[in-house]
Amino acid sequence: MTNDSPKLHAKFYYRDGSHEFIAGSFLYRLHASMLSLHSIFFSEMFELGLEDGNGDDGVQAEKSQRLILIDESSEDFDCFLEYIYLRDDNTQEPIQFASSLLKLSTKYMADKARLHAIKLLESHPCLTPVLKLSLACKYAVTEWIRDSVFDILRLPLGSLTCEDATILGFRVYIVLMTAREKVSLHRLDMAFATPEIVHFDGHFGSSSEGLCKTSWENAWWNAFSKRLLFPDKPLFGLDARETLRRMQPTDVHAECLSLTLQSIEESGVYDIFDELLDDAVKEINGFIIL
Ligand SMILES: [Zn+2]
Repeated sequence: MTNDSPKLHAKFYYRDGSHEFIAGSFLYRLHASMLSLHSIFFSEMFELGLEDGNGDDGVQAEKSQRLILIDESSEDFDCFLEYIYLRDDNTQEPIQFASSLLKLSTKYMADKARLHAIKLLESHPCLTPVLKLSLACKYAVTEWIRDSVFDILRLPLGSLTCEDATILGFRVYIVLMTAREKVSLHRLDMAFATPEIVHFDGHFGSSSEGLCKTSWENAWWNAFSKRLLFPDKPLFGLDARETLRRMQPTDVHAECLSLTLQSIEESGVYDIFDELLDDAVKEINGFIIL
């Protein structure tokens, strides 16, 4: 054996295995039946006659003559095999374990392993919105896309780094930046276009009508708009609505305030945030190819 020969894997070289595999610099000996049980990819591969026998006993040396090369790192393959063979709870595993399991379970069409990886990742404290979106795009976890784009669009302006851009990839990053720009412009449009106060019927012509109007305009500009545009945590969609609803501007009649908030809601100004989000999600979904 030369120095370049693969080393027997300490954990996954089963003497009674049916086939040998090489991943990275390690030699594995595994059971076709075990892999087939979990993976459509391996099941079809063995059915297509890669093996010499049926593989039901899997102990004949002559059945192990063929080497199957795994075009993945041994670290990734180990994670897949950990799940297939050992089925530990894995809840405390590093995020790399769950990411590798998601990667290989998707590639090898191992549905239960994929669901397990998704569950692990969803509850993992290290899963940032950027990493979540990146994994969602790479491995077609389409149910993650909207939430992760939403979270990224709500991040403070300027908080995405070069590393984030690398993780996300050029196209996704551009879609996100474009969406953020459109959301920012919409915030500015909102902030600078103070909605007209809607007085209740009995308020027209009264002595406090003017004060009601001025107070509303002051509250909009001096309180709400500043909060809407606050750079460390700019508001998005329903956050904006809730912030406005919590405001209690003095000298604005309660009935006028209620009618005005209703009018703003009906104008669809909050819905535009969701429409911009949906546009970005749709575009990113279009990048997913498996
Ligand atoms: Zn009024």
